[in-house]
Amino acid sequence: MSTQTVKAESHPESMFEAVLARLDKAAKIMNLSEDVLRVLSSPSKQVKVSLPIMMDSGKTQVFEGYRTVHSTHLGPSKGGIRYAMDVNADEVMALAAWMSFKCAVANLPYDGAKGGIKCDPRAMSVGELERLSRAYAKSMKDVFGVNKDIPAPDMGTSGREMAWIVDEFNKITGEDSPGVITGKPVSIGGSLGRDAATGRGVMVNTLCALKKMNLKPSEVTAVVQGFGNVGSHSARLLAEKGIKIVGIGDHTASFYNEKGIDIAAAIDYAAKNNRILKGFKGGTEIPSDQLLISKCDVLIPAALQNVITEDNAGKIQAKLIVEGANGPTTPEADPILNDKKIICVPDILANSGGVTVSYFEWVQNKAGYYWTEEEVNTKHDLKMEIAFEQVWNNTAQYKTSMRIGAYITALQRIEQGVKLKGAY
Ligand code: NAD
Repeated sequence: MSTQTVKAESHPESMFEAVLARLDKAAKIMNLSEDVLRVLSSPSKQVKVSLPIMMDSGKTQVFEGYRTVHSTHLGPSKGGIRYAMDVNADEVMALAAWMSFKCAVANLPYDGAKGGIKCDPRAMSVGELERLSRAYAKSMKDVFGVNKDIPAPDMGTSGREMAWIVDEFNKITGEDSPGVITGKPVSIGGSLGRDAATGRGVMVNTLCALKKMNLKPSEVTAVVQGFGNVGSHSARLLAEKGIKIVGIGDHTASFYNEKGIDIAAAIDYAAKNNRILKGFKGGTEIPSDQLLISKCDVLIPAALQNVITEDNAGKIQAKLIVEGANGPTTPEADPILNDKKIICVPDILANSGGVTVSYFEWVQNKAGYYWTEEEVNTKHDLKMEIAFEQVWNNTAQYKTSMRIGAYITALQRIEQGVKLKGAY
């Protein structure tokens, strides 16, 4: 295993450049100190590792692993680990920065980090995934720490991978530190409510926004892109609140049904069908590029980044977008949505429910005392409602979009941390 410092690769559409574009815009509007802006424009630590793994075939394959810590001003760094083929230094850097802003918006005592392994988890056996996860944990033993850097699941990972990683980390350190990673299965120190938390946050943010728009849940329809952790829980919880889900889709197929899709049936179908929607009979199959622009009031992109672009933003019919995914809207699409008066609850607010309950898991691990699911959900909903209100108020005060309002909310807190700790 080798460790080296990396620079962002040059990407045609750099995600980190997209973060900086929004950061600069918010900084100008709120008059953020230039020193603080400079500090936040470069991640504080980037690690790239090579992970040689013995595959089931007997051949060795070498995987790229990444971990970026964006900042260290408000507390230990926090952020998920992604297993996907398009993981790269630029993407991890952008996601780490978003985590700093997300934690600050939700008022958590954390900074941001993100990790990932360039791999196709669907094409790997359970044994290969376990060996890869353990190798990654070993290579990151000096990066992770319960009061240092705390990972969690993201795209392509779940409690299963977190269990392998915490086990490997604990074997290396010789201590039982469940709080070094969150999103663990409940039986080994995970929090009740964590699995559905990001979708729950999407639901609470949607309800808060609909209230501001004077719309009742029972009067609106929604389309959800992505049917993994975030998409399926968002769709289920929104449906439970009376919102009619008319469109769903994943990387294999998209479906539309103006009468409403039976989300429980879709979840059941995916669970029995290798977690994919292809072949689902609860709606008419539509081309995947039609899903985001199909007729609905609320659009929930909950799959991947850069899906709402200058090419399709003008065709979006929804009045409200709630970003379950990280970075689903490109900076070029933002002004088009703003011109169309579409309210967009940005990722750093909309999907912060996951990290909020990860924080609760960490608190419970540290205390060794565990809460009921009701306690977790009640504390979560309150935190989300407060965060939404603060972003809404900043948006109004600075006469800007909710995205920039959310950045301003985050930057106000981070600026205080940077200034109070000083040392530059
Ligand atoms: P996941 O792996 O559980 O699910 C991803 C879903 O996206 C799958 O249904 C997949 O089929 C679908 N998808 C992939 N490519 C697609 C395509 N081209 N078109 C349509 N659908 C496609 O991942 P997840 O944890 O649900 O994460 C989804 C997004 O939410 C990511 O952007 C992630 O960073 C973000 N997020 C996740 C969490 C969390 O707690 N899991 C928290 C915050 C943000």
